Amino acid sequence: MSRLAGPVRVGGGTAPSRVLFGPHETNLARGRALADRHVAYYRRRAEGGAGVIVTETASVHPSDWPYERAPLAASCGPGWTSIVDACRPHGTLVIASLGHAGGQGSSAYHQSALWAPSRVPDPVSRELPMEMEGPEVAAVVDGFRAAAALAVGSGVDGVEIDAGQYSLLRQFCSGLTNRRTDAYGDRGRLLREVLAVVREAIGDRILGLRLACDEGAPWGGITPETAPVPGGIDYLVPVRGSAFADARPDLRTEPGFNLDLCRTVSGRTLTVCQGSVVDPALAERALEFAGLVEMTRAQIADPDLVRHLRAGTAPRPCVLCNQNCRVRDPRNPIVSCIGEPGSGHETEDLVAGAGGGEVLVVGGGPAGLEAARVLALRGFDVELTERADRLGGMVRVAARLAGRDRLARLVDWLEAEVRRLGVRISTGVETRAGDGRPVIVATGSRPGPRDYAVEGGRVLDVVAVLDGATLPDGPVVVHDPLGDWTGAGVAELLAAARPVAIVSPDPVIATQVRDIAGVNARLQRAGVTLVKRSRLRVVRRDHVVVEDVLTGERRELPCGVVIHCGHRLPDAALSGTTVGDAVAPRTIHEAVLDGRRAAVAL
Ligand code: SF4
Repeated sequence: MSRLAGPVRVGGGTAPSRVLFGPHETNLARGRALADRHVAYYRRRAEGGAGVIVTETASVHPSDWPYERAPLAASCGPGWTSIVDACRPHGTLVIASLGHAGGQGSSAYHQSALWAPSRVPDPVSRELPMEMEGPEVAAVVDGFRAAAALAVGSGVDGVEIDAGQYSLLRQFCSGLTNRRTDAYGDRGRLLREVLAVVREAIGDRILGLRLACDEGAPWGGITPETAPVPGGIDYLVPVRGSAFADARPDLRTEPGFNLDLCRTVSGRTLTVCQGSVVDPALAERALEFAGLVEMTRAQIADPDLVRHLRAGTAPRPCVLCNQNCRVRDPRNPIVSCIGEPGSGHETEDLVAGAGGGEVLVVGGGPAGLEAARVLALRGFDVELTERADRLGGMVRVAARLAGRDRLARLVDWLEAEVRRLGVRISTGVETRAGDGRPVIVATGSRPGPRDYAVEGGRVLDVVAVLDGATLPDGPVVVHDPLGDWTGAGVAELLAAARPVAIVSPDPVIATQVRDIAGVNARLQRAGVTLVKRSRLRVVRRDHVVVEDVLTGERRELPCGVVIHCGHRLPDAALSGTTVGDAVAPRTIHEAVLDGRRAAVAL
């Protein structure tokens, strides 16, 4: 059996597997309390075999309110008890994460100055915090003590102290943020004091520590050599990151980016390896030096990860897109996943009984595949037709963009599942009408209208280009009115072979992409000309005309072909239940969710 799926001792407890579900922001709280949604979310991972669940970090003091629905420890007692009651029948250890974000928090909610060791503004928010005096430091220490006592009094198996990337304790430990000349100029002192009072409060319950061991800033920050790894703890989660090093990179960064750091600091206590570990094979390798592996996104993508390991079946993959599981977003969403839209929505999960009879699903993109998968699971006799030669739809197209190839794993998994479940599949087939069977129409999208004049030049749709259309000679102009991955991705891809310019109406390229700085840096490194704050107006044989959106000033750019990356429109000519892009072209998440809803409703 997989070693990962086997039990392990953690402090005085035994976890049923070596897979840890780490603390992460969920936005599932009601007010500042852990809520029914948390209970259902964690119960689902415990059912699926998680060995240890570390609950969302709770602020130990009201001076910390880093995001709107951030739990406050003083309000979490009943929630911790309910989570323990939900998870204990499965043997899962429940650990309460306790922290304070300090100068990396937000003053928007408590409307007071941020607390920090020194007056050093956070490079991300750029807000200048106040320097904590003795009473504030004492209040934080006492906050950790009281929160730990409340947590164990509520039944949890232990607590995990957050001295990770976004924490006041890291700020005290780091030369980047601690410039004090008093006793706390001894940078490890506050962490030692907190661990001492917490140990006293929790007795022999499990004490874990999440510790920033590499800030990516060797000129003054914590390095693996200087990381203040203490004694007296039951496990250590070494993490990388600060404002200078991305702690949660996306699919451009190889999974397991943190393994070397974990290996370096392992050996002193039970080590939990983390850092984009989403593949079971990689996790098994990490057990050469780690006792457990944190696989948080892997269990957001598939709550049954450990069950799959035990059964020898393939879990739904996490493709590291960070698209729906990061909740610090202007839309303030709750945690979810592009491939498993039920994640975060366990209290409202779709329930469907067994079904029967024949169903035709037209279209083999993510919406059609998910519909076919769920229908087959329910017992329907499902036929799936796809006009292209291969299943996967727009996901396969998106996976051809620079650095996005990992996306294809999701449709690979869906395809394998529908085949395993016996769905009859035909590709290269244009289906024009149903034949009396219920029909789910998942026929995707087509190019949308162009809002510029074409006076003799050549324009190609981006999907055709990614599908392998031959480009005419000459420079490429990428028309990118959306600012998502598509325009920037195709520009980066083509820049290896020819001059490329990307035209955007925005002041920076790719405004809708989370990693906006990374995207712009890569485009510049690739030599792409960034034509910002501009609209494409006219396409001619050897040039285009662009117009400044503010001044109206026009200028010409040399051009052999324009690649159109504008909005797409639904392509649904059949009658039936329409899903995914055939309703309105959106993201993979909405496509999968639409497909699932339609399959459940039948
Ligand atoms: S949204 Fe993307 S990164 Fe997040 S769990 Fe799902 S597949 Fe993984």
